[in-house]
This record gives sequence, C-alpha cells and structure tokens, in this order.
Amino acid sequence: MEHRRVTPLEDLLRTLTPPLEYLASAPHQIARAALPLGALHDKIERASAALADGRVRATLAEVRGLLGRLADRRADGGAASAPDGGAVSGADTGEGMVASAETPADTLRRMLDLVATLKSLPPAEPASSGYARSAGPVRAQLEALRMPVQFVKGVGPKRAEQLAKLGITTVDDLLFHLPFRYEDRRDVRAIATLRPGAEATVEAVLDTVQERWAGRSRRRILEAIARDETGSVTLVWYHQLRYFQSRFRPGQHVLLHGRVEPLRQAALGRGLASLRVIHPEIEILEGEERAEIGRIVPVYNTTAGIPGGAMRRLVHNAVEHYAPRVPSALPAAIACRRGVGDLAAALRQVHQPLPDAEVAALNAATSSGHRAIVYDELFYLQLGMALKKSALAREPGIAFTVPAARAARLTATLPFALTGAQRRVIAEIERDMAAPRPMHRLVQGDVGSGKTIVAFHAAVVAAESGYQAALMAPTELLAEQHCQTIRAVAAPIGLRVALLTGAVQGKLRGRTERAIVRGDIDLVIGTHALIQEGVGFHRLGLGIIDEQHRFGVMQRATLKRHGTNPDILLMTATPIPRTLALTLYGDLDVSILDELPPGRRPVVTRVYPQKQRERVLEIVRREINAGHQAYVVCPLVSDSEKTDLLAATSMARDLAAGPLAGYRLGLVHGQMRADEKDDVMRRFRKGEHQVLVSTTVIEVGIDVPNATIMVIEHAEHFGLAQLHQLRGRVGRGAHRSLCFLVASYARGDQARERLRVMEETSDGFRIAEKDLELRGPGEFLGTRQSGLPDFRAASILRDGALVRAAQEDAAVWLAGDPELHSAESAALREVLEERWAGRLELARVG
Ligand code: ADP
Ligand code: MG
Repeated sequence: MEHRRVTPLEDLLRTLTPPLEYLASAPHQIARAALPLGALHDKIERASAALADGRVRATLAEVRGLLGRLADRRADGGAASAPDGGAVSGADTGEGMVASAETPADTLRRMLDLVATLKSLPPAEPASSGYARSAGPVRAQLEALRMPVQFVKGVGPKRAEQLAKLGITTVDDLLFHLPFRYEDRRDVRAIATLRPGAEATVEAVLDTVQERWAGRSRRRILEAIARDETGSVTLVWYHQLRYFQSRFRPGQHVLLHGRVEPLRQAALGRGLASLRVIHPEIEILEGEERAEIGRIVPVYNTTAGIPGGAMRRLVHNAVEHYAPRVPSALPAAIACRRGVGDLAAALRQVHQPLPDAEVAALNAATSSGHRAIVYDELFYLQLGMALKKSALAREPGIAFTVPAARAARLTATLPFALTGAQRRVIAEIERDMAAPRPMHRLVQGDVGSGKTIVAFHAAVVAAESGYQAALMAPTELLAEQHCQTIRAVAAPIGLRVALLTGAVQGKLRGRTERAIVRGDIDLVIGTHALIQEGVGFHRLGLGIIDEQHRFGVMQRATLKRHGTNPDILLMTATPIPRTLALTLYGDLDVSILDELPPGRRPVVTRVYPQKQRERVLEIVRREINAGHQAYVVCPLVSDSEKTDLLAATSMARDLAAGPLAGYRLGLVHGQMRADEKDDVMRRFRKGEHQVLVSTTVIEVGIDVPNATIMVIEHAEHFGLAQLHQLRGRVGRGAHRSLCFLVASYARGDQARERLRVMEETSDGFRIAEKDLELRGPGEFLGTRQSGLPDFRAASILRDGALVRAAQEDAAVWLAGDPELHSAESAALREVLEERWAGRLELARVG
C-alpha cells in the first residue's frame, strides 16, 4: 500500500480547522480562546514555502493576516498574555482600518471561507510540495555554476577583483553570498506621522548638513535636516564627523532609518525640527534604487569599491540568470519530510524576498528559503560523514575476544569501584572491539572523570586476545604519568607495560624496542613520536590517543598503517556540545563519561578583583604553610609567546621578591625546551617547588594531588575552555581545593559572564555549551581544533535542530542505499563530490 505523506498545507488545515469551527460557533469565546499561534504561524510558513502556486500563497498570506487580527482581538478582549507568535500579530499592519469595522465573527467567517477555498484546491501533485527535484545528471549544472564570477552580468575584471576579496570567485559563490540582514522598506513613513520612541524608516531629502559645537561640553557634532512633503526631522552624529560630512550633502535623496527621539528643549529655539534621529542608518538613493521603496531589501557584506546598491544588483543578476540552474538533488521524500523547497526557489526567497515575507524570520536566517539552503548544506555534510563511517564499518578489523578473564580480574583488583559511566563506556568499547571491524571511538570525559582506567581496560582486552596496545599522550610528562598510574594496576594482573619516550635512551631504549618487536610487551606508553619514529610492533591491535584534539589526522592515519587495521580509541577532556560533535566527529562513535568518581569535592572557585590580589596571596601562603602546593598562572598578555614569557618571568621575580618571598618557586613557560619544562614539572611533583609559576603550558593533564591552589592572574583574558582546563589541575586529592580568578573587567564585559560561569559550575559540558554560546563556533574551536567545515549558510549555534535532522536523514538514506547506487542517489553522489571537494573539505580525513 502506498503511504502518502501529509503535505504542509494539509497539516496546516488540520490544525487550523477545528479551533476555527469552534470559535465560529461561539465567537464570544474569542477573548479567552488560545489559538496555537506560534505553531500555526510556523505551519503557514511551511505550507507557503512548499507551494509554487502564487494564488495559494496569497490566500495563505491572507489567512495569516486574519489570524493576526484575531490575536489582537484576543488581546483587546482582555487576554492577559501577548500572542506567543509575535510575528503573527504584526502581520496585518496596513489593514487596520478594515479591522476596526469588522467584528470577530466576521473575521472568523472570512477565515473559514479561505480555509474552504484552500481545501477545495485540486490535490497537490508531489512536485508542488514546492520541491522541484532536478531531473537527470547534475554534473553539467554544477560545472556551469563553477564558472568564473565574470560570467555574471555586470561583473567586469575590476568587479571580479573586488569580489575576490570577499572570497567570491565563481557564479556559485555569488549566488550563495547571502544577505547578512534585511531592511524593511515596506513601511516607509511620512515624517509628520513619526512619534518619539519608535523606530521608523523615512524617505526624505537632505537639507542643511553642518558641523557645530554643541552642549556644555562643547563637543563637535554634525547635524542635518531631512525633509519630506509632510515635515522635517533633525539628524545628529557624534562620531566620525568627517566621514559622514563627506558622504552627505544637501539635496541628496535618502532613505533613513532609526529610533526617533524628541529634541531637547534648548535646541528647539534654533529652528530645528522637533524630532531627531541619532546616527541614523542612511542609504543614499540613486535612480533605480528609488524602486526599492516598498520592498524588503537584502543587505550584503561588501567590500571597498562595491557600494551596497551595486552589490545588490550583481547578486540580483546572478540570481536572475543562474538560480534556476542550481540543481536540487535532495531526494523528494526527504525534502518533503523536512518541508524544504528546492534551491532555485530558496535562493530567490532569500535574495529577493516577496513583500509578504516575514522580515524577522529573514533576519534570523530562519525563513523557509534559509532553511532550505541550510538543510541542503547540512545534509551533504552529514551524508559525507555517514559514508565515511560506513566505509570504516566495512573494513576488516580484529574481532577481539571479550569478556576476558583478565579484564574481570582487573576490576576486582582496582582500589575503587568503577563509576556507572565508566562501566557503560567500557561496555561500548568492548562491543566495538568484539566486532570484526575497526573501532573508531571517541571518549569525551571531563577532567578527572577517569578516562585512564577506561583506556587501560581496552588495552587489557587487546592483550587478552594476543594483541599489543599503544597509548599515546601529548607530552613526555603525561606519558610518564600515565605509565606510573597504569603500572600500579597492571602489575597485579600480569600485564607487561613499557614506557617509550624521547627520554628513554641508550641501552634501556634498545632493550625496550626489542621487547616490543618480540611481543614481550603488552602495552607501550609514549608520545605520538612512538608512531612517527617507526617503532616496530609485534602485533599492534589497539591504538589509544589521549587528548585527541592535540593530535592531527596524520597521527591517526599513521597509526592505522602500523597494525592490521588496529582499533582506535580517542580520548578528550575538552568536551564539545552535541551539535558540534555531530558536525566534527560525525564519522566517529562517541562515548561520554558524564560522571565523576564519588567523593570528589568540587573546586571552590572565587573571582577576586585585581585590588584584592593581596588577600588571595595571603591564602596561598596559608595553604603552603599547611604543606600544600600552588599554581600561579600568568596572564595571556598577547598572542606572542615572547611577551607572555616576559610577563611570566617578571611575575615570578616579583612574587619571589615580595608576597611569596622565602618560598620555593619554579617557573615554566612555553619557550622552554620540552625536557626543561618536564624537569621543572617533575620537581614540582616531587614537592621541591612549592609554587609553580607558569604560562598556560600546564594546561593539560598534569596530575599533582598535593597541589590544592590555583591562582589565575588576569583571568579576564582567558577563555572558558582554558579556565576549565587550568582549574582541572587542582582538586585531584582528598584535600579541599581552591581556585582564584583574579580579574579586572569593565561592567557588562563578556569576561564577567565567563567568570560567573566558572563560579557556578564545574561541569565541563555545561561550560562548553556556554562557551560555544558566548563565542560562536569559529572562535570556540579555533584554539583547539580546526576542521569545522566552512559553512556558507548553516550555523551550528542556530541550526542545531537541522543538524540533527540532516544526520538522521543521511543515516536513513544510506541504510536504504549503502553504496549510493540507486537512480536518486546518482545525483546525490555528484553534489556530494562537489561539496566535499570544495568548501566542506574537512581537515580531518582519516
Ligand atoms: P582523566 O579523565 O582526567 O584522565 P584520570 O583517569 O586521570 O582522569 O583519573 C583521575 C583520578 O581519579 C585518578 O587518580 C584515578 O585513579 C581516579 N579514579 C578513576 N576512576 C575512579 C573511580 N571509579 N573511583 C575513584 N577514583 C577513580
Ligand atoms: Mg587523562
């Protein structure tokens, strides 16, 4: 039996009809009835987006207007709350005259008529779900879009050069150069109707433009008068006077937008208009631009030499000529399921919005056109990821035997019980290892969540089946630390562990290497040099990479070549939010250690203003006197390691000469050689240094349980992720730990927000979410991980729901057609190749 999906229009009608029918029978209820305005509005948007037929769209727009009117009625009628879909109530401006004469019952009747009209339409053909899938091969179309941007009308050699500065070199680039905002020029007001307090757009002619001294402070300001037939308004500039002075002159025809304010009394005397706009947005209208009044106008990022209007014309030309040729290869079933239209229509919608479009949705990049473009982009990303994943899944791998006796014995000999999260993640790893395909699993676990033992468990499973494991850490010190921890638990169960780092030299090195080749070692621990230097393994079955974000793709690839497709386990203590993980690690399986071992005392975190630094240092002295150790982290002065070094050196000197005189201080910084650094850290571990003054080089992994104090100087300069990692260096022992964030910041500074988050929570995932929210994905990932695809429309922050939808759809599609062999998949494959070869190129190709 064929099962037809509900179209967006049918869906809308189903939601809309029952409440309307009810209200029509009892119109007095209107004040109390709660129409699901938000949902209805959404459904109207979708239905409109999915329809090619202009008449139906117009009817839908009318329905929307009437709904808005009902919402207003409801508000008038005493319902306390504002309508939830704010956009709905604003949709019928301009029809207010009619509304006041019409009773709610009339409105309802009119709506029911419209609904009847919509219902009586001939059943929509599948294609008129608004999605026109490109027929046949799309390669030629894709190639046409790759043509140099000069093929677009209006783009000559000079413009092409200017566009290149914006990264626009092909026709395709120009088509997908989306507006960064929209100006609503539908509602251009007469000056006489302006009221203080409101934002308004006015079309006017500039009259005088002059600089003068103003106010008691005698500062220079620029003032202009703008007039239309109905009145005049004063424009004021306080900054960049020279620039604005040069742009504007009397007689210019302009469109200006801004918040209208009353003019101060004193100024009225000088014959100025009684209303003013401070720093208005002004567009000088030339010739054909006058035609843009009454429309929603897209505003593009542009560059020196291409005025906004010119950029608009270029994009317009590109859309006119080439948008119809942009292929839409998404399978119709998926497009329909997600309610997205084809790209040709979507490009038109975002570049040339119709007057009935929702400006708010356009500006939020959530309009139906935006959704279609974003979804399309995300789908191919996820399809690519899913393909990589399924290709990995088909590679032959080692099927380890689990559970093994020794693994069980390991759990028994541990000095603690595993946490629930550890048990769950271990089970996930065991399942992967037992399967006859290579594992590619990422374990995300907060600082201190106990990843080491999980990794060790995997090594035991490998050894039990007669394979070797390699554990790689980002620094020699961390490798040593792992080795020390792991040897303690390995010995009782007879697992043979060796350390192999640059520090292991001479005879010992030779002996170790030979033991590894012979297979006398079960687990080798080292830095990633372990792999690069071509150490020979007897039978490598498992590679574990700690702090994976520090490792590039290359190491992963090299590691894979070593064994016969060994299993790979990646571990990271820098959690990233789920939507980002889907985007970055879509080809990996992800396990999450979201539980800390019991009895951990959260680190008490306090922000201190700079002027109370002395109090902080007093607490530091008290702790040291009680036998504990402290870290003092120096500010990131600049991007230059040299300057940071200077700051660290002088801070260490000042501390040693002043507040911490008489204590044993050590200093580490990024300009030291790795062995020098490790040497200082080792001495700190042994307690030879009581205080470690450092730049951020101590960030990852160092484990000194006796260190209970963390002081971060100028904490306002640090990002959340970094603060979290730094704080993770304390709170590793039984004693209560303290973290002091010494900071100075201006009121309302984003730094204040970051520091507050640190005081509030120690949950790495929450901190990561917050971090992503505050900084945006580019910045968020910048410091720790490249490889985020360069989206042209999608935003990880905004489009989380679409990321998940695309991932789900890509997985389902591949499950049905694993090799992309079906007719529908052929086009998908072509677009996929194009996208992944171009802007979706991922740094992580493993
Ligand atoms: P991370 O995830 O930061 O690498 P580690 O593996 O270094 O964390 O573990 C941090 C500390 O917690 C270690 O001292 C370790 O022995 C201890 N630990 C790990 N798991 C448990 C547990 N289930 N119960 C108690 N302590 C644990
Ligand atoms: Mg660790």
